[in-house]
Amino acid sequence: MSNSRVAIVTGAARGIGAATAKRLAEDGFAVAVVDLDEKQCAETVSAIGSAGGKALAVGADISDAEQVTAAVDRVAAELGAPQVLVNNAGVLRDNMLFKMSEDDWDTVMGVHLRGSFLMSRAAQKHMVEAGWGRIVNLSSTSALGNRGQANYSTAKAGLQGFTKTLAIELGKFGVTVNAIAPGFIATDMTKATAERVGMSFEDFSKAAVSAIPVGRAGKPEDIANAVSFFVDERSSFVSGQVLYVAGGPKA
Ligand code: NAP
Repeated sequence: MSNSRVAIVTGAARGIGAATAKRLAEDGFAVAVVDLDEKQCAETVSAIGSAGGKALAVGADISDAEQVTAAVDRVAAELGAPQVLVNNAGVLRDNMLFKMSEDDWDTVMGVHLRGSFLMSRAAQKHMVEAGWGRIVNLSSTSALGNRGQANYSTAKAGLQGFTKTLAIELGKFGVTVNAIAPGFIATDMTKATAERVGMSFEDFSKAAVSAIPVGRAGKPEDIANAVSFFVDERSSFVSGQVLYVAGGPKA
């Protein structure tokens, strides 16, 4: 594994990030599992290790510039220069506009937009040096508008513009930048939403699935599979795209 390329996945302690980290390890990458709390990364790291892969747990708040610099430097020193970055970490602070606090707004912008910006800025220099790289940003079908998510929807739409601009700036260095916009995926995030609206997760999922053309909820592995495609060596002519992975054309 010592010659393998290095990938960073943020928010990889659980959910979509954990599935993505495991999938990239299967694809042959050494994976930095980044999340707020280093201890929370242990499960993903040991699952990768048991399957014969290589992973490193890194605790960092991606909305903090100093922590981001330290995290990316540590990955470069301990695993190798990162050439793949998946900006997956995310939070929800849902509320109707009239009840949304400034903190709710700033927290969501801080993690999704500022976090993806800081991580991309820190990681791109390794990609540019290598003349090869892949950045994948996690958007959402909520980018198209979703009641109670003025902050999240704005951030996820913003990530689409961010993706297209980085694709233009970094293309000549062999770096592609794409976004995935998941629909309903069963994770702790959607469980928390069900709780907030006062529904059991089963009823909440049933309601979501009734509007999904393929007739099932998404799994974290469905998103990991799309990440794997964008990151593939053979996907070098695909850049600046937003792929909706939602069991149909939209949520
Ligand atoms: P999740 O289960 O809530 O996992 C998100 C992870 O991000 C958590 O481990 C969380 O850590 C971490 N995180 C939050 N803030 C962070 C920060 N400042 N620095 C580092 N890590 C941080 O979410 P998920 O459902 O897997 O979602 C992953 C991504 O897909 C998110 O960007 C989300 O918006 C997007 N997405 C999800 C869905 C869906 O249906 N699930 C749909 C569309 C888009 P803590 O646990 O410590 O908070």
